Amino acid sequence: MEKWDSNEGTSAFHVPEWMIQFADQKQEFNKRPTKIGRRSLSRSISQSSTDSYSSAASYTDSSDDETSPRDKQQKNSKGSGDFCVKNIKQAEFGRREIEIAEQEMPALMALRKRAQGEKPLAGAKIVGCTHITAQTAVLMETLGALGAQCRWAACNIYSTLNEVAAALAESGFPVFAWKGESEDDFWWCIDRCVNVEGWQPNMILDDGGDLTHWIYKKYPNMFKKIKGIVEESVTGVHRLYQLSKAGKLCVPAMNVNDSVTKQKFDNLYCCRESILDGLKRTTDMMFGGKQVVVCGYGEVGKGCCAALKAMGSIVYVTEIDPICALQACMDGFRLVKLNEVIRQVDIVITCTGNKNVVTREHLDRMKNSCIVCNMGHSNTEIDVTYQSISQCDFLVLKFYGIFLAQLYFCLGKWLKQSMLSSPLRAALIELQHCQASLRTPELTWERVRSQVDHVIWPDGKRIVLLAEGRLLNLSCSTVPTFVLSITATTQALALIELYNAPEGRYKQDVYLLPKKMDEYVASLHLPTFDAHLTELTDEQAKYLGLNKNGPFKPNYYRY
Ligand code: NAD
Repeated sequence: MEKWDSNEGTSAFHVPEWMIQFADQKQEFNKRPTKIGRRSLSRSISQSSTDSYSSAASYTDSSDDETSPRDKQQKNSKGSGDFCVKNIKQAEFGRREIEIAEQEMPALMALRKRAQGEKPLAGAKIVGCTHITAQTAVLMETLGALGAQCRWAACNIYSTLNEVAAALAESGFPVFAWKGESEDDFWWCIDRCVNVEGWQPNMILDDGGDLTHWIYKKYPNMFKKIKGIVEESVTGVHRLYQLSKAGKLCVPAMNVNDSVTKQKFDNLYCCRESILDGLKRTTDMMFGGKQVVVCGYGEVGKGCCAALKAMGSIVYVTEIDPICALQACMDGFRLVKLNEVIRQVDIVITCTGNKNVVTREHLDRMKNSCIVCNMGHSNTEIDVTYQSISQCDFLVLKFYGIFLAQLYFCLGKWLKQSMLSSPLRAALIELQHCQASLRTPELTWERVRSQVDHVIWPDGKRIVLLAEGRLLNLSCSTVPTFVLSITATTQALALIELYNAPEGRYKQDVYLLPKKMDEYVASLHLPTFDAHLTELTDEQAKYLGLNKNGPFKPNYYRY
């Protein structure tokens, strides 16, 4: 049987040989530039936590049940009440969702089989904070099968599938999550996961960094027992790098977001498959011959462009980076500035991860019935309304900000900028900018369907805004389970590696997954396609200077 660790005797559990050598790759990882700008641990709740998300149709309509789950006394069939979900009675429906997801998550199922007998996560106490969907449930049950105890909260207040949370609670997983949590509920659920008598986590699986942030803030001593953090999102990873840079990261962390099998699959293929679904479900539109402009030609933009082109749409691309711009040109797309095409396009899609890419000025110039939507992580790309204020540390600004901003700018002539501290000035400038967004008195908003708004100008022109500028596919359609399987497998392997790593292999730093692990995750998904991989001959391996079992590419290879 293949071992879980090559260092026999140093660990009770063994990882396969290919799972060692993370440490060797660390230096290169740490040199990597981070992809995003300015987030700090001081803010209250991550953008992703409030982004709308719905992963699957709900079997049961629980909207008429107004009682907060926090006020309910529920027990599962084994008599345990160590959970908080919307309605434990929905467990059976959730179980069906999980069984459907299992069909499309072959690698996790393979890991479960492989671990029979050995339990590489025996003794692991994992506290998790992710979207609670059927796919997450398959991951959690896999971690359980590998020997771990898990406690889980949702990383997003809208994304929990209540039935799935109920099914997990029924199977004995302490889950604290429901769809439509308040911000207070959100933190309460996280706290219930970590603040338990007689149980302390020794591993963290986070998506967005809120759980990690909470433990840092409230229970820093817990880090004495924690062996590592596995983080999935861009935002969470950025925070980990910030902590590391400040010398405050006290345990090793794995950056799953930037692993090849996440970025090149989740971002590209997930979006290629779900952009049309999101647009179709919300608008019933036909794509053939439609003029579309896609802002940003990174992985997500490439996926969107490919899908729309295949449907016969005429696709324009905007980019700031000449390399991605050249790729767009070579792929047959017209590279334009948004201003050049804004009057003629039928659909505008943002995929930049940036802010204010589509401004009120652009929106004013769009033609009647133009559809506007976003595929990036945060609802910052389309200038819908002021977004950053809810994250603003100035509570007073949260309530009186617009008034203050108006006052400030009216008095601007007399008020010297230096009279205000620079963060306050920046906040006010931002607020003034917000005045130009779509939430202005002369525009009428009409909700025409769930997640579809018509914004109507005084002359009768209307634009169709999807999901209020939040990420379209996660708000309005489903995302392919198979792609999530790839990410979830990577998360599971990262947990196994960090948990079993001998002392000293990882320091208090952020690590990328090793190439070998990415290759292994990919190989676990190949049998689904009855794909037959060519093996290197000895002669060929020697010629290329490769080990026959990989890794097959250097770390700098870009795929
Ligand atoms: P990326 O960095 O590969 O691509 C973003 C591109 O946008 C870059 O090429 C950048 O040069 C370009 N860009 C930045 N500002 C721009 C501007 N003002 N105008 C035009 N182009 C601009 O990132 P990615 O992997 O493509 O992800 C993009 C966003 O989508 C991120 O926010 C990411 O978190 C999110 N994402 C969404 C999904 C989903 O399912 N919807 C999946 C993965 C990632």
